Amino acid sequence: MTTRKTPIEMSQEQFKALGYQLIDLIADFMGTIAHKRVTTGETATQLQKLLGNAPLPENGAPAEEILAHAADLLLNHSLLNGHPKFLGYITSSAAPIGALADLLAASVNPNVGAQILSPIATEIEKQTIRWLAEFIGVSPDYGGILVSGGNMANFTAFVTAITAKAPENYREEGLANTPAKLVAYCSKTTHAWIEKAAILFGLGSKSVRWIPTDAANKMDVDALEQTIQNDLKNNCSPIMVVATAGDVSTGAVDNLRAIAAICKTYDLWFHVDGAYGIPAAVVPELATLFDGIKEADSIALDPHKWLYSPLEAGCTLVKNPQHLLNTYSFHHDYYNFDNQGDERVHNYYEYGMQNSRGFRALKVWLALQQVGRRGYEAMIREDIELAKLLFAESNKHPELEAITQGLSITTLRYIPLHYVPHDEDGEEYLNILNEALLNKLQQGGEVFVSNAMVMKKYCLRACVVNFRTTRGDVSETIGIIVNEGRKMHQKLENNQLYLATQRQQ
Ligand SMILES: *Cc1c(COP(=O)(O)O)cnc(C)c1O
Repeated sequence: MTTRKTPIEMSQEQFKALGYQLIDLIADFMGTIAHKRVTTGETATQLQKLLGNAPLPENGAPAEEILAHAADLLLNHSLLNGHPKFLGYITSSAAPIGALADLLAASVNPNVGAQILSPIATEIEKQTIRWLAEFIGVSPDYGGILVSGGNMANFTAFVTAITAKAPENYREEGLANTPAKLVAYCSKTTHAWIEKAAILFGLGSKSVRWIPTDAANKMDVDALEQTIQNDLKNNCSPIMVVATAGDVSTGAVDNLRAIAAICKTYDLWFHVDGAYGIPAAVVPELATLFDGIKEADSIALDPHKWLYSPLEAGCTLVKNPQHLLNTYSFHHDYYNFDNQGDERVHNYYEYGMQNSRGFRALKVWLALQQVGRRGYEAMIREDIELAKLLFAESNKHPELEAITQGLSITTLRYIPLHYVPHDEDGEEYLNILNEALLNKLQQGGEVFVSNAMVMKKYCLRACVVNFRTTRGDVSETIGIIVNEGRKMHQKLENNQLYLATQRQQ
């Protein structure tokens, strides 16, 4: 048999040789990650120089060379969210088995849009969805779909809620014949996805009712009910309430039980955005925090956050998966996807927005097996303990103010010793100081934290979704923050003096 000769094919021997070389480099990278800097602090201009500005390649190049080049660029010029002192935003360390899973998935390349194109992959995704439902403590009869992340998981549920609850037939009529304005409710801490959703799906951002929060950053449930009643009086049509289970700034979990009851009273869709926090429901002593989750009509969660999947993996779970089909399922002549003998066909293109779909379930499915429920329970509990340790150590330190602690998120700020307020309430300077400190820390490469505004205070925010972080990393982080805080205060003080003398002249 002759084989066709193309520039893209690789021989078995070549694939092995290149693959082994690459795996060696990656293993070395993972094994030494703790000794590297979290970021190199290189500027975009420096990186562009490194990359060069060659035009589109006219002719091909040896795979060995370009792979080695790509590995050098990525392994040596990236921000390392797998570093034990990466504590910023909510981007977790990625499970090594996820990297192998992605390689395997890409090698077979099933298209998990249709069952006939991905026979075993579809079954694996179905099992993954069932396990995720069990993981967070809802009925395994929830159905759903894996998507690219939390935003997409929330969008997928948002449209489903409108289809289910809009007074007119949204699927056929859109919003054209809707006499009453459709409105959605969420707390002030809700992630920015909801504005995008309101815009994308035609409601407009004014249709989002931002409900105030209480002292613990949870949705004020009385205010929620008041707002719904006002809207009903004013010819609006309430559709859904979005509860947050682990808000991005402080880790607060809304009172799911109370919100579920309100949704029942007013016949609203109850959606829970648990993109970050809901996996913590696997920890038995935290179960009461998530009481009411079983009532959710839909839930968004992000395996690429606290389940440590490499990007991208999000998930929408829906109590009655028929609602997903009611929203997304269409049948066209050019699909011959429904003929699988007597068995019920499960085509994922009918459950969400994508048509062709990659096999992102594999990395989630493998990690769930490698670690098991108990393993995740222990890792998530330890992440929370480390965040609590950071809070306690900050509290003890004379130059730090510990501000909030929720799930695995701690916020704190630097306050100089014997600080004499520069302005009326002393807050303005502290906000300037801590913002400058944050920028310094993020460039410095010793530790990576992010920021949060809490009660008008500019805070440093550490979120531990990192199985590599240790107690030692937490104490070293305190040391780095205080050290850099002192230097930044000095620098700003000198500036102030300089500015003051300038003003006097
Ligand atoms: C991270 C997060 C999102 C967005 O998820 P992506 O995966 O970044 O798209 C939405 N809501 C909450 C509560 C989150 O923590």
